[in-house]
Amino acid sequence: MRRKLAAGNWKMNGLVDDLSEIKALTEAHPDPDVDMLICAPATLIAQMAWARGTHALQIGGQTCHAERSGAHTGDISAPMLRDAGASHVLVGHSERRTDHGETDADVAGQAAAAHAAGLVAVICIGETLDQRESGHALTVITDQLRGSLPPGATAANTVIAYEPVWAIGTGKVPTTEQIGEVHGTLRATLRDLMKQAEGVRLLYGGSVKGSNAGEIFAVADVDGALVGGASLKAADFSPIVSAL
Ligand code: 13P
Repeated sequence: MRRKLAAGNWKMNGLVDDLSEIKALTEAHPDPDVDMLICAPATLIAQMAWARGTHALQIGGQTCHAERSGAHTGDISAPMLRDAGASHVLVGHSERRTDHGETDADVAGQAAAAHAAGLVAVICIGETLDQRESGHALTVITDQLRGSLPPGATAANTVIAYEPVWAIGTGKVPTTEQIGEVHGTLRATLRDLMKQAEGVRLLYGGSVKGSNAGEIFAVADVDGALVGGASLKAADFSPIVSAL
C-alpha cells in the first residue's frame, strides 16, 4: 500500500527567518504517519533539520551532482546533502532541465548518485504546452521516465513527480482525466522497467493548492503532490497536507 506524500519545493526561496514556517507546519501536523517533505535551498537544509526537532518531517535537496566529490565549483553532491540532514533530493526538475540544460541521461546519473548516497531520488518529468497541444504528452513523459530512471531504482529509493511544465506557477491545472491518463501510463511504464513498480509513489505537481488538492489526490495512481508556491507558507501548505 502506497502512503501519500505532500512534498514542497521551496525553489530559490527562503532565508533563516522563514524557518518559522517549518515550526508552524510541524506544530500543525504532529501525526508521524503523515508524510511531509520539504525540498529546501541547500543553505537551509542543516538548519531546517534542526528546526524540525524530533518531528518526522523529511527534508530534501533540489538537485545533486552525479559525482560524489571533486572539482565542480558551485555544485553540491548527494553525500553533502545527506550529511546536512536530507533524506531526499529532487532531480530533473523542469527548471533545472531548462536553466541548466540537464538531459535525461544527466538526471539518471544524478538519481544514481542519490541512491548511492542513501537518498531517495524524486525524479521529475513533464511535457511542455507545445508537446501537449501537438498530442505528444504521453510519448514525451514515457521517454523521459525511461531515460531518467537509473538501474537500481526501487520503490524505496525512488519517487516520480509528474509536473507538466505549462502548469508550473501558472494557476493552470490539467483535468483530473488528463492527470489520471498520465499517471496510469507512468505506472504501466514502470511495470516494464522495474520489479517494484506498484510500490513507487507518483506525485502530481503544478499549481497544486489547498482548494484543488483533494480532487487531485482522489485520482487513481496519484500518490501525493509536489508543491511549489503553496509550500512556502505553512498556512498554504497545511490544507494540502490535510487533504492527503
Ligand atoms: P507550483 O506549485 O508553484 O506550480 O510549482 C510546482 C513545482 O514546480 C514544484 O516542483
